[in-house]
Parts: sequence; structure tokens; C-alpha cells
Amino acid sequence: MLPYQSLQEAELALGRELTLAEKLWFNYSAQKSDYYLYCHNLLFLFCVFSFVPLPLVFIELKLSKNISKYKLQPKIRLSFQEMFRCYKDVMWMFFVVVGPLQLVSYPTIKWIGIRTGLPLPSAWEIVLQLFVYFLVEDFGNYWIHRFLHNKWGYEKIHRVHHEYTAPIGFAAPYAHWAEILILGIPSFLGPAMVPGHMITFWLWIILRQVEAIETHSGYDFPWSPTKYIPFYGGAEYHDYHHFVGGQSQSNFASVFTYCDYIYGTDKGYRYQKEHLKKVNLLQSL
Ligand SMILES: [Zn+2]
Ligand SMILES: [Zn+2]
Repeated sequence: MLPYQSLQEAELALGRELTLAEKLWFNYSAQKSDYYLYCHNLLFLFCVFSFVPLPLVFIELKLSKNISKYKLQPKIRLSFQEMFRCYKDVMWMFFVVVGPLQLVSYPTIKWIGIRTGLPLPSAWEIVLQLFVYFLVEDFGNYWIHRFLHNKWGYEKIHRVHHEYTAPIGFAAPYAHWAEILILGIPSFLGPAMVPGHMITFWLWIILRQVEAIETHSGYDFPWSPTKYIPFYGGAEYHDYHHFVGGQSQSNFASVFTYCDYIYGTDKGYRYQKEHLKKVNLLQSL
């Protein structure tokens, strides 16, 4: 809810003319409560979980020759029913865990200082804050994920996420309810450290989930724009973690590769990559 009754009043308070984006935001949000704006995340998450993996489902079912060379584990192909079962389980967790968590976490958002008013942040401010959120979340996620690979954590909680040894897009948020709750903490840590605007927070929630779907896609597309992001892990990187499974002590990071590099947990992956390179070289001779 904005503390202005009209655009003119907002412009007077800011001492300048509003930008087009600010006018649009005023018209959209002026009469809506902050809680209602925060709850938009429910719709965004529902849409991301439901629609973003759909092209991957189509690719998996069709699997033309042109595309199959990019599949990371070509021997494993899931049927429509199997993928739909994964989606149903994700939706169940969405309505039982993710949704309620969103609804009750609003006081935290208020407490850390996510704002909904004017002026809107600049594009640079949004990009820099998102960068910090990704870095912080990646670091927190790394250690929680690594902890979940101890005997107790894996058998009691993390085993569920590893049911898919060859991940698919829908399986990105597929996890035990306790894992969903625990991994919510590093997601909030970045915004808590560098609180921004609600729009930045929305973008953060959307981008993080889209990134997770890409990472679990099971395909390493050379044209993916994420290939240009320095130290980005990507699908191949995380696919290896799922391929090895519960015994995996490699590639714990969810977004970037720097944590695994610094803490030496990418050795298995690097070795395997080198080994495959040699095998491919020998086969081509
Ligand atoms: Zn794992
Ligand atoms: Zn995973």
C-alpha cells in the first residue's frame, strides 16, 4: 500500500516526475496491501513449477536426434506418466509446505525491510542485489546440502531429492518437506542482508527457481545463455551430483562452482570429466 492518494501527490513527495515504470507500479500497487503483494510469490512459484519445465517434457518425449546429443544421461528416459507423477508430488508439497511457508513468512519480510513504495530501484540496484542473493544463497545452500549428505541427513531427508538419478526439470523442487523448509533459510539470507524492493524479491524467487529447473533439466544445451555466466555450474555440473547419488561427495553447490572449488569437493567431477575426454579422444582415433 502506497502512502499517496494520487500520482501528483507521489510526484510532489519525490520532487520529480515519476518514470513510466513507477507510474505503472503506482497504478498497480497503490491500493493493494503489502501482504497481498508479497503473496504474489505463490502465483509466480505455481507458474514457474508448472510451466517452465513443460518444454523439457516435450523435448524428453519427442527426443529428436538433433536434441538427443545434448541429453546428459541418454540411457534414461522418463515416460509422460513418470514426469506427471513428479509434478503431482511437487504440487502436493507446494500446497502443503511451500504455500503455507510463504503465507506465514510475511512478518520476516517486514522485519528485514523489504519495501513496496516509491521510488523504484534502478536496474543496476536490482542486478547487484540479485547477484548478492545468488552468492549468499549458493554459499548457505552448499553447506546445508553437504550436511544433508551425511548418513543421517541423507537417509532421513535428502534421499527424496536423489530419487531422480537422471534429473528432469520438474524434479528441481522435488524434495522432502524438511529439506524445503531448511533450504528456505539461505534463500531469505541474501534479502535479509541487503533488503531491496518487493519487485527485486519477486525476481529473486522466480529466477532462483528457473535456475534450479535449468540445472535439473538433464540437458546441456550449448546455446544456453547461462554458459556466459562466470563460475556457473549448470545442468552438467549438477547432473553429475545426481548421477553419483547418495555416495556423492562432489558438486554440492546449487548455482556456482566456486564453493566446490575452494573446499575441494569437485575432484570426483573433474576426474570424471578428464577421463571421459580421454575416452572420447581414443574413440575418435
Ligand atoms: Zn545431494
Ligand atoms: Zn538436485
